[in-house]
Amino acid sequence: MAESRTEISNLGEFGLIKRLNQGLKNNLPDSITGIGDDAAVIDLGTEFGLLSTDILLEGVHFDLSFFPLKHLGYKAIAINVSDIAAMNGIPRQVTVGLALSNRFSVEAVEELYEGMKAACKDFNVDLVGGDTSSSLSGLFISVSVFGRVAKDRITYRNTAKANDLLCVSGDLGGAYIGLQLLVREKQVFLADPNMQPQLDGKEYVIQRQLRPEARMDVVFELAAAGVIPTSMIDLSDGLASDLLHLCSQSGVGALVFEDKLPIDEQTYVGAVELNIGPITAALNGGEDYELLFTVPQSDYDKIKNNPKISVIGYMTDKKDEVLLHTKGDNRVPITAQGWN
Ligand code: ADP
Ligand code: MG
Repeated sequence: MAESRTEISNLGEFGLIKRLNQGLKNNLPDSITGIGDDAAVIDLGTEFGLLSTDILLEGVHFDLSFFPLKHLGYKAIAINVSDIAAMNGIPRQVTVGLALSNRFSVEAVEELYEGMKAACKDFNVDLVGGDTSSSLSGLFISVSVFGRVAKDRITYRNTAKANDLLCVSGDLGGAYIGLQLLVREKQVFLADPNMQPQLDGKEYVIQRQLRPEARMDVVFELAAAGVIPTSMIDLSDGLASDLLHLCSQSGVGALVFEDKLPIDEQTYVGAVELNIGPITAALNGGEDYELLFTVPQSDYDKIKNNPKISVIGYMTDKKDEVLLHTKGDNRVPITAQGWN
């Protein structure tokens, strides 16, 4: 037994991706970047092309017992568009890979597509192809998106500078709290099918989980304000995890102020109800698909009156020192993990 076996859980998601790509290098002159950013960058001559893929797998990313297919279709497109937004780009075309089990009717797949079409309309992208197959175990959706960006407007993850302001769009933790509430209601229902779900007054956080938006509106507003972020990433894994990526790839540190973290009222109330710290939800809850970006301090006046943008801290020259300044005036390290 000479062959060794390493469990994927030993490496984790990011460790595995790193290992698989060891020794991989671009051979083509128009492949500008490889792995490591929200989208790959391709030189189209006058501008850059952007290319990204995201997978959604039943039982891992969604539970069809509470996830309406229409919303799922919308989300599959939106989370891909979000990766183009994170490069400061404009999404153009998507292709859709589907694997379906015989549990699905034609009408059910049509409903999934209704959601995809609605998202394509909202984000002004064309669905131009894909692939369809049967599946032995549940629904599998893989979407790839192509986008464009002017060469002097592209924003990478690895270009944040010390003293830049750290900004985030929208609010944090809502999608995670929405998911926890849906999971709780499912358990209640399984225990007693006569129970009605108690989700009144929780519409916003439920929507954050089931039907996230890509923040193209913020991309357009930054452009209109004359701001090109010095770096940007979208929040798929949670503020902590994604900020750590931004910092390590940029070779900088960050100081985040707890009292600046934007948390919606429903997120706060839901978190307390679920016995989850609202700050924990804001730092570690994933799937908000907001934009986390940095701007030079000289751009502060251009963003300070935009209600969609919060300045939550600043970057430091202390490489990989990512700290939270708490309301009690302590400074504690921000830590995170991808899935394992
Ligand atoms: P995001 O959350 O922005 O979608 P991920 O965390 O999924 O990004 O991926 C991080 C980087 O690793 C990206 O640049 C992505 O293209 C790359 N990547 C992920 N999975 C693979 C894979 N199986 N092979 C090659 N590159 C991958
Ligand atoms: Mg991303």
